[in-house]
Amino acid sequence: MTQASLPEVQGDDPRTDELRANLTAVRRRMAEAEEGRQVGAGPAQLIAVTKFFPAQDVRRLLSLGVTDVGENRDQEASAKALEVPRARWHFVGQLQSKKSNSVVRYASRVHSVDRASLVTALGKAVRNHRSAVEEGRAQPGPSATTDLECLIQISLDGTSGRGGALPEDIERIADRIAEEEGLRLRGVMAVAPLGADPEPAFERLYGCATELQAAHPHADHISAGMSADLEAAVRWGSTHVRVGSGILGARPVG
Ligand SMILES: *Cc1c(COP(=O)(O)O)cnc(C)c1O
Repeated sequence: MTQASLPEVQGDDPRTDELRANLTAVRRRMAEAEEGRQVGAGPAQLIAVTKFFPAQDVRRLLSLGVTDVGENRDQEASAKALEVPRARWHFVGQLQSKKSNSVVRYASRVHSVDRASLVTALGKAVRNHRSAVEEGRAQPGPSATTDLECLIQISLDGTSGRGGALPEDIERIADRIAEEEGLRLRGVMAVAPLGADPEPAFERLYGCATELQAAHPHADHISAGMSADLEAAVRWGSTHVRVGSGILGARPVG
């Protein structure tokens, strides 16, 4: 039996129960966070970040009503997406241009577009993927028929060290995505700065998002908020929270 044909998980295994309880707690936090929302329209949607956890956990999450999952490394993501193609896969990590050809085979959305050279690489990769599908050389991924959704990752700590474009570069990157065949600009993404209050950072992100949306009305997504700071992110307009450890549990170190 191949991995892909493993039976559906049963609802009564202990890990499913654990995930169900965690998911319920996170969904409750999200609902409460909506009451503190200052800007934007909710409710924010949940993307479960499954990095370091097996494909079987992704199947369990789907059985619990999760539809969208995120990963931050191509090697791990591409393997899991092959096993669970019916999940909607989001790529949320720093991305090397040379991985573009792989990512476009399974991802519906890339949250971490932070430079013009990556825009070029992703556009080319989508068009190559479409040719390959047309010629019967590849199985169609989501971007075979729908433009790959791109979010511009913005650095909120004033440096580009951990990935993310500086605010002054957003407009140029946005224009590049908008003109690239095969890509669709959907909004912005950010990770709160390490060791600082996330609230003013997410407020700055909201300012960037509003400015971007004035020029690109479809770019209305704000991907912000993780296990530790989803309340602050929702307060400042998050439309998509990316929650890992809060649902899956603590990640193995390393
Ligand atoms: C791991 C990761 C998350 C989830 O983080 P948690 O703290 O586990 O919720 C969200 N976004 C990105 C980009 C990540 O790499």
